Amino acid sequence: MENKQYGIGDVVEMKKQHPCGTNAWKVIRMGADIRIKCTGCQHSVLIPRREFEKKIKRILERADAGE
Ligand SMILES: [Zn+2]
Repeated sequence: MENKQYGIGDVVEMKKQHPCGTNAWKVIRMGADIRIKCTGCQHSVLIPRREFEKKIKRILERADAGE
C-alpha cells in the first residue's frame, strides 16, 4: 500500500474480508500491535503492525477528513 498514513478512527479495507461478509475495519488502537474492529459484526482483532501493513488494502474513511 502506498499511503501508510492511518490512525485511530480510520476505517480500512483489508485484502481479505471477514467471514461475516464485511470488509470495513475501524482502527481502535495503535501501537506495536494494532486493534481493528469489524464494522459488520463488531468482532475485534489484535494484529502486529507489520502484519497489518501487509494486509491493509486501502483506507475507506479517514477520522480526520474534515480537518
Ligand atoms: Zn465481521
